Amino acid sequence: MSDEFKEQPSVARCPSDEVLGSYAEGELPPQHPAAVHIAGCSVCQMRLRQLDEGLAAWKDRIEDECSDVPVERIKEAVHRKLREEEAG
Ligand SMILES: [Zn+2]
Repeated sequence: MSDEFKEQPSVARCPSDEVLGSYAEGELPPQHPAAVHIAGCSVCQMRLRQLDEGLAAWKDRIEDECSDVPVERIKEAVHRKLREEEAG
């Protein structure tokens, strides 16, 4: 049993990432035990930030991947290539 653990007994009751996510989305009422815990727990605040950053990074990546697919340009290129081949 380390001193660090004794200083932060709340760590043992930290809610799961799922609950943290609900809290971040504002789905937990402020008087909910988990919400009260998260609001007063530095570990949960840190995890919350990491969760937020992870989610933001993930969203950015998905949006980047989707917007990077230039479907119209691919179609244009294919059509141009076909016309070139037809023209010989
Ligand atoms: Zn906590």
